[in-house]
Amino acid sequence: MKVFKFGGAAVKDANGFRNACSITGLFPKEDLVIVVSAIGKTTNALEELTDAFFFKKGNAEQLLSKIKEAHIELMNQLFPDPSDPIYNEISNTFVELDWAIEEEPSANYHFDYDQIVSMGEILSSKILSAFLNKEKILNTWLDARGLIQTDNNYQEGKVNWELTEKLVRTNLLPMLNKQGSILVTQGFIGGTSENLSTTLGREGSDYTAAIIAFAADAQEVVIWKDVPGVLNADPKWFDQTKKIEQLSYQDAIELSYYGATVIHPKTIKPLQNKKIPLFVKSFIHPNDAGTVINDVQTHLPVPCFIFKVDQILISISPKDFSFIAEENLSSIFKLFADHGVKINVIQNSAISFSVSADNDDRKIPPLIEQLKSDFRVLYNDHLELITIRYYDQPTIDRVCSGKTILLEQKSRYTVQLVVKNTP
Ligand code: ASP
Ligand code: MG
Repeated sequence: MKVFKFGGAAVKDANGFRNACSITGLFPKEDLVIVVSAIGKTTNALEELTDAFFFKKGNAEQLLSKIKEAHIELMNQLFPDPSDPIYNEISNTFVELDWAIEEEPSANYHFDYDQIVSMGEILSSKILSAFLNKEKILNTWLDARGLIQTDNNYQEGKVNWELTEKLVRTNLLPMLNKQGSILVTQGFIGGTSENLSTTLGREGSDYTAAIIAFAADAQEVVIWKDVPGVLNADPKWFDQTKKIEQLSYQDAIELSYYGATVIHPKTIKPLQNKKIPLFVKSFIHPNDAGTVINDVQTHLPVPCFIFKVDQILISISPKDFSFIAEENLSSIFKLFADHGVKINVIQNSAISFSVSADNDDRKIPPLIEQLKSDFRVLYNDHLELITIRYYDQPTIDRVCSGKTILLEQKSRYTVQLVVKNTP
């Protein structure tokens, strides 16, 4: 069995659906599990809807109408027959959202977020399943909330691996009962033991594909993207990018962790654990080789570089000029963890400790406030974090031209630089 994942960009419009359909049609003899994301930017729109509903700012009904219209417009292009049952199906799904925003918000933003935002994938997967069936690619729709079990850490559900494996084995595998069976399910979402919806973190559909592949012992995972494979730099920033043919799990995890957006960082571990290869392929040229990420030890032939913008560099030192010692460090780390701030780079000296993190305006100000009660805190924002794996000096010079380096850290294969634009 293979797991295919189509992200929001792959199904952003009617042509995307048609293309996903023709790609699926290229594998008539394979058992496939298709994991799909919400259409285009629907998740962002649903986040806006959640904020309007929860904080009572903005017009929730109007935001929901726009999301409805976009889905209806798409269906009009895919299903010319107005009596097609998909119209009823989707309208019933929207009724659930109507009800959700008619109620008063709960006390927990993260909970409400997951109940609302998870619907994006329910909608897209229903439309994809119905469209494939209409095009004679017979398939069954499966609810991922009954497969992927998480705790109730809403917005960042933690997978219960044992239970998930059991559910995949009892609810999914038996449905792949003949060669060429196809199942369509949702990325990004899971369910709790009380049958409530959870989400796995933004861009989490890749992770879903990996979880299912792990639990079902899949033969491979294919992520269909708008790029030809994994590139050595983001084509948004650089024009001379090179496609990487083969990547080790180790390099893939390092690159995605430091911000290569091509795959979600959590995706690699479950696949590495079972040595399942991950292919990243172009949905525009589906017959091209793409990139394979698998169990090899080879190093990359070219430097790979990743930019993370909007970084803040925070320097923390004890108020009384004492050393940064273990007790200080553990209380500092605890504060970062309590505020949900992920640390990107760390450097410490005798009396100070510097950290670069994403400058999230909801999380960083309260963290700094709290740090200030025990430490002297200085910070610099609007910075970039540049990570170069398999670095060489010409690449460092090239990416740092016109920039001032505030922090530099080199290990054998990786250099990380926190820089600001030189005024
Ligand atoms: N739809 C979700 C998001 O945009 C999950 C995903 O696309 O992977 O974050
Ligand atoms: Mg997406």
